[in-house]
Amino acid sequence: AWSLEQGAEGPETPIQVVLRVRPMSAAELRRGEQSALHCSGTRTLQVSPPGGGPDVAFRFGAVLDGARTQEDVFRACGVRRLAELALRGFSCTVFTFGQTGSGKTYTLTGPPPQGEGVPVPPSLAGIMQRTFAWLLDRVQHLGAPVTLHASYLEIYNEQVRDLLSLGSSRPLLVRWNKTRGFYVEQLRVVEFGSLEALMELLQMGLSRRRSSAHTLNQASSRSHALLTLYVSRPASQQMPSVDPREPPVGGKLCFVDLAGSEKVAATGSRGELMLEANSINRSLLALGHCLSLLLDPQRKQSHIPFRDSKLTKLLADSLGGRGVTLMVACVSPSAQCLPETLSTLRYASRAQ
Ligand code: ADP
Ligand code: MG
Repeated sequence: AWSLEQGAEGPETPIQVVLRVRPMSAAELRRGEQSALHCSGTRTLQVSPPGGGPDVAFRFGAVLDGARTQEDVFRACGVRRLAELALRGFSCTVFTFGQTGSGKTYTLTGPPPQGEGVPVPPSLAGIMQRTFAWLLDRVQHLGAPVTLHASYLEIYNEQVRDLLSLGSSRPLLVRWNKTRGFYVEQLRVVEFGSLEALMELLQMGLSRRRSSAHTLNQASSRSHALLTLYVSRPASQQMPSVDPREPPVGGKLCFVDLAGSEKVAATGSRGELMLEANSINRSLLALGHCLSLLLDPQRKQSHIPFRDSKLTKLLADSLGGRGVTLMVACVSPSAQCLPETLSTLRYASRAQ
């Protein structure tokens, strides 16, 4: 199978785009919905408009259909190469983009547990768990003294909330300074030494997202969640950090489960929902805008407006630096979802 890992040494294109079509859901099948999407080859998606008319084709770095397993997706996305770059000091990002229900969270973290004490089978583990296992294995093999830290936060209505905080969950400020670039003040950054410890942090953040989804009316589909791994080399090679809350400077690997890309405003929502729609769209529009400017061949001269949203501020170093950004665009195959699917496909196409 074709893979982004083939061939290249070092980042050649800064942004890689992979498309994942999830299988038809039980509900979609029950309603007798038809698929509007067909993969042709490993890189092309054909879209059949429901009213007939010619197919429209979209090309991506890889196109993965509903038969692809979590392991297939992990391999085809070449995430190991991003983790390797992070070990070498680069900042890399993996993000999932698409409408609510398209498989973003499933792709990154696998399905939610089916009940109390029922473990998710390892074969369904998402990109994040697979990368964690690979990274910790790699660090052990390297034998080099590498220190690993993690943070996990959520951006909701342009407010940053710490998913690992031990105390209050009041919003945190995003600041900038010369050495660190953009960072979140007082964010809990936790050192970990084992896969188990990292999985615990992931579970802590995931369960906080899930519980807020109940109380805040599906807030998890309207928030962006960022889990960041920080890789630092021995202290002898860098200045010791003065503030213990500051993560050490080094490589980074960030996983971003973006808010649903659907136009909440179009459903006629008012008040709080409008505020959410505006801040989701603000972040996603700002991200799309930054991506397209970064891809502009004249980008040396152009100013990239990372400051336009919290999301783009926090992704600035991996987007604007020499790291690699991987976008996994997620879509439903159903013809019923076609309007949103087309807007996802256009957004994703513009980013490459
Ligand atoms: P999103 O995060 O984009 O809102 P989810 O990841 O929660 O979407 O997926 C919506 C539903 O579809 C969930 O029940 C999820 O388990 C299921 N699902 C998503 N992708 C797949 C897939 N590739 N295979 C099987 N089930 C999937
Ligand atoms: Mg989700």
